Amino acid sequence: MAQGKINVQTENIFPIIKQFLYSDQEIFLRELISNAVDATQKLKTLASLGETKADVSNLRVEVKLDKDAKTLTFSDNGIGMTEEEVDKYINQIAFSGAEEFVQKYKDKASVIGHFGLGFYSAFMVASKVEIITLSHKEGSKAVRWECDGSPNFSLEETDKAARGTDIVLHIAEDSVEYLEKHKIQQLLDKYCKFMPIEIKFGTNERTEKVGEGDDAKEEKIIEDNIINNPTPAWTKVPADLKPEDYKNFYRELYPMTFDEPLFHIHLNVDYPFNLTGILFFPKLKGNMEMQKNKIQLYSNQVFVTESVEGIVPDFLTMLHGVIDSPDIPLNVSRSYLQSDANVKKISKYISRKVADKLEELYKNDRADFEEKWDDIKIFIEYGMLSDDKFLEKAKNFALLKNTEGVAKTMEEYLEQIKPLQTDKDNKVVVLYTSNKDDQYSYISAAKDKGYDVVVMDSPLSAHFVGKLEQEFKDTTFTRVDADTIDKLIKKDEEIPSKLSEDDEKKLKPVIEGALPKEKYTVVFESMSEKDQPFTITQSEFMRRMKDMNAVGGGGMMG
Ligand code: ADP
Ligand code: MG
Repeated sequence: MAQGKINVQTENIFPIIKQFLYSDQEIFLRELISNAVDATQKLKTLASLGETKADVSNLRVEVKLDKDAKTLTFSDNGIGMTEEEVDKYINQIAFSGAEEFVQKYKDKASVIGHFGLGFYSAFMVASKVEIITLSHKEGSKAVRWECDGSPNFSLEETDKAARGTDIVLHIAEDSVEYLEKHKIQQLLDKYCKFMPIEIKFGTNERTEKVGEGDDAKEEKIIEDNIINNPTPAWTKVPADLKPEDYKNFYRELYPMTFDEPLFHIHLNVDYPFNLTGILFFPKLKGNMEMQKNKIQLYSNQVFVTESVEGIVPDFLTMLHGVIDSPDIPLNVSRSYLQSDANVKKISKYISRKVADKLEELYKNDRADFEEKWDDIKIFIEYGMLSDDKFLEKAKNFALLKNTEGVAKTMEEYLEQIKPLQTDKDNKVVVLYTSNKDDQYSYISAAKDKGYDVVVMDSPLSAHFVGKLEQEFKDTTFTRVDADTIDKLIKKDEEIPSKLSEDDEKKLKPVIEGALPKEKYTVVFESMSEKDQPFTITQSEFMRRMKDMNAVGGGGMMG
């Protein structure tokens, strides 16, 4: 039996690994299963190149829990390792990786979230780890490696009939939660749901009726519990998928969500970076408190994180779905991520794809697009405010809805109102309301005059209005209660006040005294013939200031 000491410099590495990775302890499972899956994929590759005689028709990974023995075992029938390979890949390479990790991240515990510490992450939960492995190479002898977390290991020949590797974790006293079936099932669901090889975890029992009539009986059927779907929708060619397949995949991703998505966008690029995925527009139902971080990030079907900020443009982080890219560096900080050239390209690509898809929906089925508008407009408005490239495309299909619910594109709308709604500077005046109920009397006064009023009631509207004014020159947006309607639009003949001059003089200070100072104006000029004798208005400038402050001084703009 060989014995050895891994490396003097690494004397204290395990306490450090434990300490630094503590918050993310559970990733050991992802790492060990990734290694097992890698081992099967490597064998498959060798077989396809004719470099191994191994039978690769039934590749699999299995997770076994033995509560009495306090072990958690990861088995694969992949490539296996010879004694030399264990020495090279486990004793030398993995350790140098761990050492590099410690050197690099000693002082920065926050950035290590997804550092691929790989095999040695097992020591975060195990007091002892065994590797029992048989290489696919003809004439190989099985070997057993064992290490208790100190730099001392043993390596000896052993008996193992089947090709592949078993990694046996002897779970440490302080990590006994990993001996619970439900805990392991939960982690498998989280990290391994779409890994590319079938992963078995125990069995499921169910009963089935067999036979007819009097002979009918219940039969117990025991099946392997396969925890993953090795070929999720995003890995397939869009042309091979039906709308139903996308809906099913959505349900697979979010089993607890009962709503169906509005539509999907299938992403697929291999140059200049690799990226696949499917994004879904969720139903908002007026729910502005949308959850961010519903998009899951994968790397070659291995779950990485649910935090995609910096990778997905900010205005799209409320979408649902999956992004899979081996080109996103995982072991770096967020701020680095945002400056990475590949990541920038990815972010731009996603933004462009979303704009293209929206345009396609708009062009192919306008009625359907109008129906979805209320759910998607918050994304689109936010996108138009924060991303100029997106704005360029979206201004052609972004819709304005009037108080009657009629939807028009900006261009169509300006064309429609131009003849009647211009001010003294010849600017087209878009009248809008931020609250149909509160501003009801102003809206009806405008309508009496034949003017049209659009609804702009999202939290972004105050900013969005400004953006549209920049984009569409010779246009001005004015809230319907900003002034009496005749001052907003053309100066035709004035409607005479219903009160005598004397009454006006008495009344004005009384009403103004009751209102917040300097913000409102009282005008003794009826909005229309059948209306009240005076109007309280607030200038467009004053209220835009107020609205902007209300959304946190543009907090959402980043
Ligand atoms: P990485 O996977 O990033 O290479 P790891 O520390 O996870 O780093 O693993 C180190 C190496 O050990 C792997 O590259 C592989 O050569 C070998 N190895 C680990 N687990 C297995 C396994 N189940 N079967 C075969 N080889 C393995
Ligand atoms: Mg690994």
